[in-house]
Amino acid sequence: MLITGFLATSLLSYGVAERRLRHTIADEMLPLTGDNVASQIQNGIQRPVFISSEMANNTFLRDWLQGGERDAGRVQAYLQAIQRKHSPRAAFVVSGRTGRYYGPRGLVKTVRADDPQDAWFARVRDLRAPYELNVDVNPAYGRQPLVFVNYRLLAPDGSFLAVTGVGLTLDNIRQLLRSYDVEFQRRAYFVNERGDVMLDSRGGVGQNIRQRPGLREIAPLIFTGSARPQRLTYDAAAARYQVNARFIPELRWYLLIEQNETRALTPLRNVLLLNLLIGLLATGLVLAVVLPTVARDRAQLRRAALTDPLTGLPNRAAFDAALARPLASGVPVTLALFDLDHFKVINDRYGHPAGDEVLRRVARAAQAALPGGALLARWGGEEFILLLPGDVASGVPVAQAVRAAVEDLPTGVPGVHVTVSVGVSGARTGDTAGSVLTRADQALYLAKQRGRNRVEVAPDPAPSTPDAG
Ligand code: GH3
Ligand code: MG
Ligand code: MG
Repeated sequence: MLITGFLATSLLSYGVAERRLRHTIADEMLPLTGDNVASQIQNGIQRPVFISSEMANNTFLRDWLQGGERDAGRVQAYLQAIQRKHSPRAAFVVSGRTGRYYGPRGLVKTVRADDPQDAWFARVRDLRAPYELNVDVNPAYGRQPLVFVNYRLLAPDGSFLAVTGVGLTLDNIRQLLRSYDVEFQRRAYFVNERGDVMLDSRGGVGQNIRQRPGLREIAPLIFTGSARPQRLTYDAAAARYQVNARFIPELRWYLLIEQNETRALTPLRNVLLLNLLIGLLATGLVLAVVLPTVARDRAQLRRAALTDPLTGLPNRAAFDAALARPLASGVPVTLALFDLDHFKVINDRYGHPAGDEVLRRVARAAQAALPGGALLARWGGEEFILLLPGDVASGVPVAQAVRAAVEDLPTGVPGVHVTVSVGVSGARTGDTAGSVLTRADQALYLAKQRGRNRVEVAPDPAPSTPDAG
């Protein structure tokens, strides 16, 4: 019961804790991390958009472009000033008329309609919105992707003149992702719409999640275009992962926050094991203490139930049990029923305590007069009973010896002697405890009638038949 109890409570509380942690990861931890990263991105993008808008509305730039892009040093100085003031990773103007790409260090290149790297330019030129964000790896700025704010610069008549804006690194975001991983072992990464990992708190950039085991199967559920976070799980390498995925429209990337649930549950599992161990130990300890005590108490109770408290002799119950065995097996036994003579007188004259003392002495003396193998019990009141192995002939001398021993017994009361009358009967085939006892009782009655302090044997008629006697 103890072990079952410990097991049940431990497993139950583990189950509750596990479910709670799983829900906390899915409903709180991962969504919050995702919200944080998403809002960080929104915040981080506001200022560059504002700067780019200022550039697109700058009258010098517009005049310079409309004036035929003469003296590139002037636009270079302007872009340098932008960079000094706001320190973006890139600042640029790309002319719609000439395709020239100007940076803070002068002319970078000329965009070409047939170069896929420059495809963005045509897209922005035809854009309806005033600007777009474009994440791109531009070799001119190293291998890390940059977020470009591509702002359309228009002539006063609304015609397209150039694209201008700034580019910024995702260093802040990368650091943020990294911090979640370091602190909470929560992998955070971005994939583009094709599934290529673009930014990762671990070294996954360049991989494609459609190739990752486990993740591959749930990939279709990720690329929904919905900014509403998706809660997903997948299994890989004997572990379960929870994923929170959402579309970040600013970057046109998907943000994935991922946690190894199996590892997150490890502390709980350890606690469960510890609980079970403690439960087992406690159970073992309790059993080690309780079992010997119970065994001792049971033995004591058993002894008490079979012992007469006054004389210390076996009681009637013990005698009944001892008699049942030879009666069942047919082994010859003889019963001798003793009753103290005129015992009431001792009680009446000298009081019950004196009577008790006489009973104790009689018990001791009778016991001392017995051969081995005999069982003396207190039958009740001032009556004792003797179970002897063997037939009546061998039993009578023993009964006589007991009678004689009691006769000579100092009673503890000066001048008072005590005697016993004895009825002897031998068990016959087919005897029950009741029948053999009745005969012993009848013999005892005879001994009383014939003057007491004597032994009488129950008549031993022929083996009983229904019409015998
Ligand atoms: P008899 O020779 O005919 O047997 O006479 P008796 O006085 O012994 O008569 P009886 O057997 O009727 O009386 C038994 C008495 O034994 C009555 C009872 O008060 C007393 N007695 C029974 N059990 C105890 C006991 O445990 N302690 C004491 N002190 N007296 C007991
Ligand atoms: Mg009596
Ligand atoms: Mg008596």
